[in-house]
Order: sequence, then structure tokens, then C-alpha cells
Amino acid sequence: MNRNWRIWIRWLLVAWTSPNSVIGLAFGVLALLTGGRAQIRRGCIEFHGGFVKWLLSRLLNGQGAAAMTLGHTILGQTPAMLHRARDHEHVHVRQYERWGPFFLPAYIGSSLVLWIRGCDSYLENPFEIEAYRLAPLNPQSQQPSAEGKSEPLKSQPPKPLSPEANVSADDSDCKRG
Ligand SMILES: [Zn+2]
Repeated sequence: MNRNWRIWIRWLLVAWTSPNSVIGLAFGVLALLTGGRAQIRRGCIEFHGGFVKWLLSRLLNGQGAAAMTLGHTILGQTPAMLHRARDHEHVHVRQYERWGPFFLPAYIGSSLVLWIRGCDSYLENPFEIEAYRLAPLNPQSQQPSAEGKSEPLKSQPPKPLSPEANVSADDSDCKRG
């Protein structure tokens, strides 16, 4: 009985956040059509390479993002970047499961308000603050890629080890409460 409830709750969460997952799957199909690959890890479908790599490398004002979560799909530039970002991205998966179809409006709205106030629309975003607090990215955890090579870290976005690392002392309007 207990196990049945868990399966039902799991499917309800999948359905609740499916509008986001559909967007991720659309990007995933584009990745597969352009030489990218798919894999299933920890209950999510991950896509890397092809169009997804092209897209992610242009995010965050051209600095590039290692990975991005859309519902129960995770997009990554490479397998190594997915590996490095996986814990962080799964915090976002839990956020999507809480917010469902309201996650993207809430996330984008938060970033917009921060941007208007002159704050960091990415690192000061409450959803990112939670994700970095629970699962800070570890630049030391390099993992050989599918091709057996180590991915260079310089292509990764400059993300802090902890949220506190990027708060400037004189920027009182943008400090986290
Ligand atoms: Zn994040």
C-alpha cells in the first residue's frame, strides 16, 4: 500500500510539471536531430550535445551554462558537465515538482525583478540561492566524458562554490535575507 502511494505521488508530480518537461523534450528532440544524445539518470531524461550544447553555451550573457533543468528533463552541454551539475539540477527538479506550471513564470519573474533592481538576476534568484545552498557545484569533481577525455573547466560558467561567495558587501539592496 505504502509503495502504491509512492508510485501514485510520483506520477502526479510527473503530470504536475509535465508542461515544463514538454519544453525540455522539444529541446531534446532538436539535440537528437543535431548529433546530441539522451540518457536517463535518477528518474530524469538528460540530453547533451548538438543543439542543446549550442544553446547552453550562449546563455547567461554569453558566459554559458553547464546545464539547465526543465521539469523532469535536464539539458547539459556534455556528459561531464551533466555529471558535475546533476545534484544542483535535481534541486531544481524538486522546485519544479513543487511549483509545477508556475515554476517558469515564478523563476523568470524573480529574475526580472532582480534585473530591474540592478541585482544579479541569476545568482540572486531565490531558486538559485536554494539550489546553490543545497548542492553547490564542485569545480574539482571532473569526470571523464563519454569520449574518455577530461572536460576543460574553462568552458564552465563562473559559478561560486557557495552562494555567499558572490555577495558583494556594499550591494545592500541585493543582499539575500
Ligand atoms: Zn541552478
